[in-house]
Amino acid sequence: MTLQRDASGRLHIESNLMGESLMDKQLLAGTDLGSIHRLMPDLNVVKIGGQSIIDRGRAALLPILDELVEARQQHKILITTGGGTRARHAYAIATDLGMPTGVLAKLGSSISEQNALMIAILLSQRGGIKIGHDDLVKLPNYMMPGIIPVTHAMPPYGLFEQPPALGRIPPHRTDAGAFLLAEVMGAERCILIKDEHGLYTADPKKDPNAQFIAEIDIDELLALDLADLAVERSMLESLKHARSVREVFIINGLVRGNITRALAGERVGTRLYVKRD
Ligand code: ADP
Ligand code: MG
Repeated sequence: MTLQRDASGRLHIESNLMGESLMDKQLLAGTDLGSIHRLMPDLNVVKIGGQSIIDRGRAALLPILDELVEARQQHKILITTGGGTRARHAYAIATDLGMPTGVLAKLGSSISEQNALMIAILLSQRGGIKIGHDDLVKLPNYMMPGIIPVTHAMPPYGLFEQPPALGRIPPHRTDAGAFLLAEVMGAERCILIKDEHGLYTADPKKDPNAQFIAEIDIDELLALDLADLAVERSMLESLKHARSVREVFIINGLVRGNITRALAGERVGTRLYVKRD
């Protein structure tokens, strides 16, 4: 490593990024070098929906936890949690009070974390431990036999959340967070547990003519520009650019056996994928 001083007097440490603004398109394209280290290529990141599952209470949630505990014998699983109704209530009040998006994101994060705490407590006799986002790099060591780590799925943008294109709700919520977490861990798959069979052409709760979509390439889905979606649009954008995880599954956790089948690689629900080059 040598130091170099340029003609303008700036001091550089020699590397291929030396003296660059890191904005040059050709230079940026050249940084996608080789394969990315996958920290946990056998990890399954599972998000339990807040509104779709947790807020339904014990009747919906407890059988799902039983299924995950059983599946943990064969699979490495990280449980992540959505926010749900309380997050929506907080967003409504905060919007009325004129709070910016970043403040809404902070509020949503703590609600997603409350759900992680409750699920970790429900699982504590069966291996559940609540972990924070800073613990994620230690995840391989938390995967001792039987241990089921639980964390909140809201990504840590917090006050730095992007202003959304439309409205004021934080665009990166818990679907995006679960996916981004799977991507940084180099996980095997990301499964979103919700209360419908998967993705439809419209909200099946509102439109009886909504058609089920078994699988769809992300570019095709973005081109459809559906008016409503079962997942956050920001998650679709992240999946489009992902380097490690190239598919996300949306499954109905209210149907017993779906989680086990999805973890076993069987086709249940909707598969959103990126075409491999
Ligand atoms: P979660 O609590 O898991 O984050 P959400 O309630 O935010 O789940 O989103 C899932 C809900 O989205 C479904 O229960 C469904 O009613 C609704 N939805 C809206 N548009 C669609 C669509 N195109 N396909 C499927 N579900 C949709
Ligand atoms: Mg949601």
